[in-house]
Amino acid sequence: MSDKILEVEHVRKTFGGVVALDDVSMSIERGTMTALIGPNGSGKTTLFNVIAGVYKPDRGKVLFDGTDITGWPPEKIYHKGLVRTFQIPKVFKGMTVYENVLTAARGNPGESFFKSLLRHIWRNKEIEISNKAIDTMKLLKIFHIARNMSAAISGGQMKLLEISRGLMSDPKMLLLDEPAAGVNPTLAHQIFQFLRKLREEQGMSMLIIEHRLDILFDYVDYVYVMSRGRIVAEGTPQEIVENPVVIEIYLGE
Ligand code: ADP
Repeated sequence: MSDKILEVEHVRKTFGGVVALDDVSMSIERGTMTALIGPNGSGKTTLFNVIAGVYKPDRGKVLFDGTDITGWPPEKIYHKGLVRTFQIPKVFKGMTVYENVLTAARGNPGESFFKSLLRHIWRNKEIEISNKAIDTMKLLKIFHIARNMSAAISGGQMKLLEISRGLMSDPKMLLLDEPAAGVNPTLAHQIFQFLRKLREEQGMSMLIIEHRLDILFDYVDYVYVMSRGRIVAEGTPQEIVENPVVIEIYLGE
């Protein structure tokens, strides 16, 4: 098993005349929390979209868990264990929190007509999924609102629900798009503490886009900095805060 969970090699992506990603390479160690930062328009979302299969790069490669996944459709990448959460959570507002977590489970045999005939298997699997949903909600401290309608929960709880949904498919790696955006600092720290727990207890690998650097830098192991479609710096949080290139980028924002 390689110690690299994700490798991006010389990726280029253009939109018409705009070069959104220009020869981007990065290498992420298994079981680490890595941050992807940079000013608006620097290419972070485009890179997430290339990794998650939403966009095919014009050039370059993406390797996940030792497999070349370049150009794979998003569903196939998701099933391989690379799961993305969104800045604006994609939850079903007409369902309860619990139902939202349940429906995110992968491979529910109840979905298949033939397997649904084998009711005992289906029922055992249902119990297993239900237990997993409960454990996940407990882990992220949203179990007490399990029966609440998702439309009625707070923005921070919505973030936690989105992460819970991501965890139901047993991912090997999470791509987290601003997991702490729009929530108060206490909850933001709590979200990052949960993420750290996932890393420590399950060896989860994570790549995180986040603008709140003061909070982010307390938790991540490594940081990549983007500017104008390129990776311009990388290192530990300590190295990054002292890097003159990074300071200049942020001062110029
Ligand atoms: P960030 O996430 O760092 O804010 P983006 O990846 O969203 O940056 O954007 C990088 C550049 O690519 C920007 O100049 C943006 O305008 C451009 N871009 C992103 N997506 C598209 C698109 N679908 N069509 C055209 N241009 C795009």
